[in-house]
Amino acid sequence: MTTTDSTLQPATGKVYLVGAGPGDPGLITLRGKYLLEHAEVVVYDYLANPKLLSYVPKNAQLIYAGKKGGGLHAFTQEGINKLLVELAKEGKMVVRLKGGDPFIFGRGAEEIEELVSEGIDFEVVPGVTSATAAATYAGIPITHREYTASVAFVTGHEDPTKKFSNISWEKLATGAGTIVIYMGIKTLPSITQKLIDFGRSPDTPVAVVRWASTPQQRSVVGTLATICDVVAQADIKPPALVIVGEVVKLRSTIDWFEKRPLFGRRIVVTRTREQASDLVAQLEEHGAEVLEYSTIHIEPVDDHRIVDAAIAGIAAYQWLLFTSLNAVTHFFQRLAALGYDSRHLAGTRIAVVGKATAEELLRYGVKADLLPEKFTGEGLAEALLRTEVKGNRILLPRALRASEILPEMLTDAGASVTIAPVYRNVPPQGPKEELRDQLLDGSIDLVTFTSSSTVTNFLTLIDAADDDELHRLLDQVTIAAIGPITADTLRGHGLRVDIQPERYTISDMVQAIVTHYRDKTRQEA
Ligand code: SAH
Repeated sequence: MTTTDSTLQPATGKVYLVGAGPGDPGLITLRGKYLLEHAEVVVYDYLANPKLLSYVPKNAQLIYAGKKGGGLHAFTQEGINKLLVELAKEGKMVVRLKGGDPFIFGRGAEEIEELVSEGIDFEVVPGVTSATAAATYAGIPITHREYTASVAFVTGHEDPTKKFSNISWEKLATGAGTIVIYMGIKTLPSITQKLIDFGRSPDTPVAVVRWASTPQQRSVVGTLATICDVVAQADIKPPALVIVGEVVKLRSTIDWFEKRPLFGRRIVVTRTREQASDLVAQLEEHGAEVLEYSTIHIEPVDDHRIVDAAIAGIAAYQWLLFTSLNAVTHFFQRLAALGYDSRHLAGTRIAVVGKATAEELLRYGVKADLLPEKFTGEGLAEALLRTEVKGNRILLPRALRASEILPEMLTDAGASVTIAPVYRNVPPQGPKEELRDQLLDGSIDLVTFTSSSTVTNFLTLIDAADDDELHRLLDQVTIAAIGPITADTLRGHGLRVDIQPERYTISDMVQAIVTHYRDKTRQEA
């Protein structure tokens, strides 16, 4: 056996140059995602969506390689090249995450050349380049049999009036059917002029797409003759792509991304960190830009004596009730902590407040015996009352503070209810200024509430000094409540409820929001 002393010779790391795609985090490759999941260091750019960093292991190092156009913390290209070499020499697995495709106007090759000259191992993972994404997400097929058989990717970074350009505008003007220009906003006037001067018709359609494939996408359309004015009017700034060619005409038929019902709507989701994802995913699916504020943080209670005693004596209870998903999770945590599993509950009937709670329960292999038609505490009480609960012992594991309607209705009907607190809602100390500013300047369209505690905690978060300020903060936004209790809580604070679904589920609330904006758009049209 050979014995190479690896402590004397530190293993050199490896650098993976990974294309992050154009903006939509769903457009990264599986290979790119895999590498992020295994990275020790990630060096990322302005144009790489920071949401992708959620794939990176918690203990990995994240290095922001600087703002477009150079900012306070910007690295120079040489600085980045050197940094990658240094990190690799420390033996690290480095992901260099770049917007779009690393080899399309990304200076990826320069970074690789430095690695090669230092003898460092590397790989390159292509990405969806912003040109194809911008075209696709603006409803423009970049090629089309009837319109064009060729496409050119060009940088607009060079001023075409410059004496020695690397780009032959003369040949390009009529030589390529579709011309896509990166970094071309500043130089747009001279580029369009060149194309016209060299024989492209001034009537050629042109689209400009900013922040393509993100919820902030904006596109405008004109012709070679008019697009500069259109862009100036709409105040379109970089990053944006310019698409020149007859194919732009097809946008009127194919546009899909900006046509989604919640596109351009900015929606605040006020849920617990743990539960927000379903609502967020559904809203985003309809095109909304979602700002997540975790207004509640859920913690187990410190004192488990009541629930522990009830679990030990579970045989004495006829019913076990769950009025929230969190109650299920935290109750089963105690059950496990005491050394039991679901079989311990075999002799007790179980009722849940709604579908989500029933589904959570199923994860522990337990099917609810009773699910009310109306998914509220009151609905659950009504359903139970029909089963003759007089004299029954009922266990209700729940939040430390919660609505008393359910236990009161059951007690009034002659049942004996044990309330066993298993978790509590803790309002977090969030970044409130940003939220307040956005509420005031009208850039938030809608705020969603999925329980009474999200209301109270949201109010804690925005921290209005008095009712006047509260109204100033919330007067411009539309308010959605999942059900009547949440709506009552809102009204109790003097707030309006604009949207409330008939059935109290996340999907129904999302559908009600979609309908609301559909109607609104129709009225405006
Ligand atoms: N390697 C990248 C391009 C980097 S050059 C790629 O393959 O996409 C930077 C330019 O790309 C920007 O100035 C802009 O013209 C374009 N760009 C990148 N992302 C964009 C986006 N989401 N929307 C519009 N243009 C974008």
